[in-house]
Amino acid sequence: MKKIPVGILGATGMVGQRFITLLKDHPWFEVVCVAASPKSAGKKYKDAVGDRWVMDEPIPKNIANMKVLAAEEDMDQIAKQVSLVFSALDMDKDKIRKIENEFASHGVVVVSNNSAHRWTPDVPMIIPEINPDHLQLIKVQQKNHGWENGFVVVKPNCSIQSYVPLITPLLTFQPKKVMVTTLQAVSGAGKTLEGWPQMQENVIPFIGGEEEKSEKEPLKIWGNEAKGIKITATCIRVPLEDGHMASVAVSFTKKPTPSQIKNGWKNFNPLKSLKLPSSPKHFITYFEEEDRPQTRLDRDLGNGMGISVGRLREDTILDYKFVGLSHNTIRGAAGGAILTAELLKAKGYLDGKN
Ligand code: NAP
Repeated sequence: MKKIPVGILGATGMVGQRFITLLKDHPWFEVVCVAASPKSAGKKYKDAVGDRWVMDEPIPKNIANMKVLAAEEDMDQIAKQVSLVFSALDMDKDKIRKIENEFASHGVVVVSNNSAHRWTPDVPMIIPEINPDHLQLIKVQQKNHGWENGFVVVKPNCSIQSYVPLITPLLTFQPKKVMVTTLQAVSGAGKTLEGWPQMQENVIPFIGGEEEKSEKEPLKIWGNEAKGIKITATCIRVPLEDGHMASVAVSFTKKPTPSQIKNGWKNFNPLKSLKLPSSPKHFITYFEEEDRPQTRLDRDLGNGMGISVGRLREDTILDYKFVGLSHNTIRGAAGGAILTAELLKAKGYLDGKN
């Protein structure tokens, strides 16, 4: 099969680097261009990223010497080469919306990590296992803009991936109140521990804008099924490189039994039949051990695409509490976006492009 040519916008950043490593031997997609800011443009990728490269493996050979283009200024050149771009830009939100729309108007499919378009009414915000039906909005978006092949889809914030997949199989029991506290790694801010001295031996109980996203984005993902659910979130930065943990308490209209909850988690793997390359074998893994999930041990479950959960127990105020964990730059960012692109391909949304 001829691979689909893709580009990465924001390729030099933390999420951009993840895209590069995850797409290295991808069976469907091939990275043919990398783009970043004008200050990186014109340089070889390895020189532009320099000592900011933080992945465990080296820069893939074909990417290391690739010339970096400017995401906005070189748009025509990028659009000619690719069918799809993964957007991991970090810049002014209005600017991002404009750039992403312009790529779509050039006939390019945009799968974005950024929050800029998450509340645009005709832009679907997708967790592939949870709301693949929201892709139907693409037709409306294309009609609204008069775009033939291009469109924009987004993935939600990384923080919510540690608890939304766990509450989704329980929607049938009508959750009412969700209290969540997230413990988020520094890579979620595009940083490393070494490069963020204030985070060493420290916990910071504030992440700008994160609590609002953590409370509201799940409701858009669940759509009509979110009726009656209220979420309150506290988001805390902790001194870890990767991995977001969530301590969650939930009340229900129809209180399930613990075994109904565990079965719901065990059996929830709605993408299984599509056999998407980045889909983990088990979407959700429940640990019976009382001290799991642990960030260092479990964040890479299913190549960083699995969600782990443990410590299911009765709560003294709400009905149950538990602890979830996901890898923020894989499931929560680049990996989630690649899975979304695979879903688009499997559902025929990329057919017009090849
Ligand atoms: P980052 O490490 O700061 O990288 C930002 C990228 O944007 C770099 O490639 C940078 O290029 C590029 N950029 C900055 N200004 C630009 C401009 N004017 N024109 C073109 N490119 C420009 O950020 P990140 O952590 O990878 O995050 C990227 C996006 O993903 C953000 O929107 C973030 O909110 C979102 N996200 C991140 C995570 C996570 O876990 N980190 C999770 C979910 C979503 P230069 O190197 O040339 O400056």
